[in-house]
Formats: sequence, C-alpha cells, structure tokens
Amino acid sequence: MAVVVQKFGGSSVGTTERIIAVARRIIATKEAGNSVVAVVSAMGDVTDDLLELAAAISSAPPEREMDMLLATGEQVTIALLAMAIHSLGHEAISFTGAQAGIVTESGHTKARIAAVRADRVSEALAAGRIAIVAGFQGATPDAEITTLGRGGSDTTAVAVAAGIGADVCEIYTDVDGVYTADPRIVPGARKLDVVSYEEMLELAATGARVLQLRSVEFARNHGVTLHVRSSFNDHPGTIVKEADETMEQAIISGVTHDTSEAKITIRDVPDRPGVAAEVFSHLADANVNVDMIIQNVSEDGLTDISFTAPDEDLVRAKRAVEEVVRELGARTWSVDTSIAKVSLVGAGMKTNPGVAAAMFRALANAGVNMDMIATSSIRISCVIDAKDAEIAVRALHTAFGLDSDTVTAEVSPAAPKGA
Ligand code: ADP
Ligand code: ASP
Ligand code: MG
Repeated sequence: MAVVVQKFGGSSVGTTERIIAVARRIIATKEAGNSVVAVVSAMGDVTDDLLELAAAISSAPPEREMDMLLATGEQVTIALLAMAIHSLGHEAISFTGAQAGIVTESGHTKARIAAVRADRVSEALAAGRIAIVAGFQGATPDAEITTLGRGGSDTTAVAVAAGIGADVCEIYTDVDGVYTADPRIVPGARKLDVVSYEEMLELAATGARVLQLRSVEFARNHGVTLHVRSSFNDHPGTIVKEADETMEQAIISGVTHDTSEAKITIRDVPDRPGVAAEVFSHLADANVNVDMIIQNVSEDGLTDISFTAPDEDLVRAKRAVEEVVRELGARTWSVDTSIAKVSLVGAGMKTNPGVAAAMFRALANAGVNMDMIATSSIRISCVIDAKDAEIAVRALHTAFGLDSDTVTAEVSPAAPKGA
C-alpha cells in the first residue's frame, strides 16, 4: 500500500461537476489500495475574485486581513470535496492549513513554511479515511492565518508529502505536464517526460507557472519526486526529480516568459563606491524582490541603474526609490510596467558555448529588441517589450528545435530557422 498525495489546482475543481470528477479519481486511487491525501486550491478564479473585492474596498489592505480573506477560497473547496466523497460512499475529512499542521513564518501573503506537523492527517489515514487539505494556507505558531503566495497550493502538497513521508506526490492541473513552453502560447510545445529539479527551479523562477517556485525548492530539499499531470485525462505527465545519468541533458529544455515584472530606472546616480549598496539596501528593507540589475557606463561621474522587480512589489519599490533618489541626489527615476522577460533554460548550456549568440540572433530575426540580459549557468534571460513576448517565445522555441514534429510543419516559414 502506498501513501499518495494528489493536488488539484483551481481549474481542476472549477465547478461542482469537476469536484465530483476529482472525488471519483481520489476514490479510485483509494480503492486501488492506497492511502490518499488530497490538497486542493480555490475553485476556478475565486482567488482573483477575492483580490478584486479587496481592491474595491482599499488600495492598500492590511496584509493580515488579505490572508483572512484569501484563505476562505480553499476552505470552500475542501468542504465541498469532502461532501462529494461522502456522497459517493467513502469516508473523508477536510482540514484547513492550520488543522493539517502547516506551520509558517509570519510574513503575511507569502509566508514560508517553517514546519509540518501532520499528525491529524496521519491519524485520518490510519483510520482509513481520505484526508483533504486546504492548499495555499497555514498558520503561525500563534494561530495567525497566513497564505503562501500565488500558486501556493503546490507547495502545500509537497510539504504534506514530505511531512507524512508519502510515496508519490501528484500535481494535477489543466495541461498534461511540464512543456518546453507554455502550451497555450506555443501550440507545438512538447511535454517533457522528465525534468531535473535544477531545471524546474529555473523554469518556475522565470515564468512557467505550472509549479510554484517554492514547491520545487521544497521538493528538492526534501527529496520529494513530483508527477505533474492532467486531471482531465489519464496520460502520464512529467516527472520532476534529481538529475541522474539516465536523464538526457538537452541543451535547451524550455523557453519561458514572464510579464509580471516592472523595470525601474534611476538616472544620473553618482558613480562612487557604496551607491549601489545604498540603493539595493533600501529596496531590501522594503521587502522588494529585485531580479535583474544593470548599471550603465559612467559619464561625467554619473550613471544610470535599472532593475526589475515583481509588479506586486511596485508600490513598495517606488517608495524606496523615491527615498534613495532624494538621499543620493540622483536626477530622476522612471517605471516601465510594459516589459516581459523571456528565458531559455537547459542543463546542457553549461557545456555548449554559443547559446547566447543563437538566442540573440533568433530574437533579432524576429525583430525583437533586447533591453537587459542576465544569465546563470543553465539559463539566459532577456528583458523585452511586453508586446513582443509571445513572438519572442515562439521564435526561440522554433530556433532551438523544440517544436514537436506534428506541429512544426505548420510553423510559419517566416519564423527564424536553426540556431
Ligand atoms: P493550477 O490551477 O492547476 O495550479 P496553473 O494555472 O497554476 O494551474 O498552472 C498551469 C498553467 O501553467 C497551464 O495552464 C499553462 O498555461 C501554464 N504554463 C506556463 N508555462 C508552462 C509550461 N512550461 N508547461 C506547462 N504549463 C505551463
Ligand atoms: N488559490 C491560490 C492561487 O490562486 C493558490 C493556488 O491555486 O495554488 O494562487
Ligand atoms: Mg498553480
């Protein structure tokens, strides 16, 4: 008998019909002789709707109250799913994050999981019940409700799997697995059978929202193998695990894009030691997650500094920049929210020179201008105009030979060829 954690995302539980379909899948897993824990998200767009409600009341709602609000989404699903399982003749018990022992740090709206005390979940399984856990939420040791950041139900699933020593952690979603690019943008994207934690971390960090970044970090740190698959069919999905010698090291595993960041530029900053430290200390103090940074060549002892940060950190970032501009006597600053980041990820990049050149060539051929560039050993990212994001992703996907055979024939002949 195996212990199986199954996580179902928003679109997998978007309607009552879907909840009943999910209940049947869970019951089938149980009837095959397994113990099952289901982790679920809020139904469909409920989290977005709750965010809209809050925005209609306040432009800066207290983060504690945001968490109180957002945590309700998942609570609806756990109760309905437990009812569905009961109505199909099986025993199930639902748990909020706090009841399931998801203990977090205190940072509201993107709290980190500090510990998993899953005794009640384990007891339910021992009693032969199906345990249902609300994703995306936890509680601090002093019982404050927290949420784990957008997409956080993935992290709940991995944390519960690690906490109860599950044999399998399945992430059910609305696509068949992890693809070489977002299949909604690149119809010829190919499903990856297996992907290493290392690559999945870069894919998740650069916009492949199929897994929350923290869930991959947690899985790697605790050795939890993931199976990302569709809740709408029985096709095998993508296995995410530690790289081993059986894994083919593709030069490029995927192309990602992210339109959820903004670029801030501070102009005519004095070019002397300590200035960058000053700028980025202010941003760190304001809890701004700075991503890419670029500093221009100095002219007359003055320079420009640009950086990108998530849109959701923008209000805090602007406040911090305003302060630092005043302190440093910089000339002006500006914000550009219409940017996108496109990235190429692949473990084989380490040993294959020329990937950056081929990337820049493909973007140039597609008429896409690059604004900033950043690299890691297995990733290259470029900031471009947001309106070019989809063109860029498709061009790179084709240029690096990732298009699947069946769809490649239909790709426009104008697309760049060969890397
Ligand atoms: P869930 O509600 O199940 O958590 P998400 O919307 O969070 O689902 O994630 C699934 C979506 O991620 C897919 O519908 C797809 O559009 C998007 N996506 C982006 N990049 C990728 C990728 N490389 N592979 C698979 N899906 C991707
Ligand atoms: N409901 C939350 C969100 O929409 C968490 C999740 O779906 O993983 O971000
Ligand atoms: Mg998700």
